Amino acid sequence: MSITPLMPVYPRCGVRPVRGEHCHLIDEDGTRYLDFAAGIAVNSLGHSHPGLIGAIQQQAATLMHVSNLYGSPQGEVLAQRLVDLTFADTVFFTNSGAEAVECAIKTARVYHQSAGNDERVELITFNNAFHGRTMATISASNQEKMHKGFLPLLPGFKYCEFDNLEMVKSLIGPNTAGFLVEPIQGEGGIRTGSDEFIKGLRALADENDLMLVLDEVQTGVARTGTFYAYEQYGIEPDILATAKGIGGGFPMGACLATEKAARGMVAGTHGSTYGGNPLAMAAGNAVLDVVANDEFLAEVRDKGERIRTRLEQFIGNYPDMFELVRGKGLMIGIKMKSESRPFMIHLRENHQLLTVSAGDNTLRLLPPLVIGDAEIEEFFEKLSAGAADYENTEAA
Ligand SMILES: *Cc1c(COP(=O)(O)O)cnc(C)c1O
Repeated sequence: MSITPLMPVYPRCGVRPVRGEHCHLIDEDGTRYLDFAAGIAVNSLGHSHPGLIGAIQQQAATLMHVSNLYGSPQGEVLAQRLVDLTFADTVFFTNSGAEAVECAIKTARVYHQSAGNDERVELITFNNAFHGRTMATISASNQEKMHKGFLPLLPGFKYCEFDNLEMVKSLIGPNTAGFLVEPIQGEGGIRTGSDEFIKGLRALADENDLMLVLDEVQTGVARTGTFYAYEQYGIEPDILATAKGIGGGFPMGACLATEKAARGMVAGTHGSTYGGNPLAMAAGNAVLDVVANDEFLAEVRDKGERIRTRLEQFIGNYPDMFELVRGKGLMIGIKMKSESRPFMIHLRENHQLLTVSAGDNTLRLLPPLVIGDAEIEEFFEKLSAGAADYENTEAA
């Protein structure tokens, strides 16, 4: 037998973490890595955060799981907090980002079908989007590498160029149900939707009774320096998918909606065995205890600005390697002149710095939101050393 016990769908690298300490990961062989990947924007509180650990331990010892057939005092607390913090009136808890997007897609469709508008089934989605790996969420993306071998796709998605409002207008028709969009494309390369684009989608949704569905799975829960990124656009969505950072490493997500948008999500229409169980709710509440306040959010914005300003100066020293810096808060991309993956590998192997490569030649920086000044210094030391010897290798 040559297949590995772990289904070989990931090209896993040689780093084999066994322990985490704040912003560092420690490998099987004791090597320490500076973690600017944070489980891909998941470990918002870093590793081994005492508040998060304590909450999970205590809840695990008290009550780990009950069915959604019963009342959920734990879920009500977290749902109410999310309602108070956002545009939303109601929340459905999931176990992952893709499930949160699935729930968002269903909510958008049933919004129309519950009013007898059975033809309004199509969501306009955007090139290079990433919404997850389930059948519906791969169908919502135009990325063929995710489709290959898994056909047929689910119908009901129309692909549009990102940040192109004129093209969006041309695609709206009698079958349109709404828009599904990442305000900042994560996997697509930290491509930030412009103000005009996101505001324009809101206006088009209002004019045509369409659902504006935001995928904030990566941008959400303080990552961009506001609780959700939509706040920075001065608009509110109808439906929003969130996950990744919300559990700080505990697998959970949620679909948020206004009362109007959720009009079709009545008893019996949707469900999840695990979604919203007490253990997940304890993790979510512990994360919000840390991140959902003005001081913390201001710090994320401040740290993000400081890192971006320094990065902009830094890339000036390497005009052949780097093109520009973009992103919001602590969701930062360095667009390179060529593929970012070899440089990401170089930083990992030779400088013990973990980053993530993304689309559009972009190196993604997603440090824990609790990162301190010492780790920011360590990052720039590693990056400087990494760029210097990478440039030399390339020249040789
Ligand atoms: C990661 C991600 C998802 C999928 O989340 P999973 O938890 O892996 O299912 C969906 N949308 C966006 C924008 C993401 O970054």
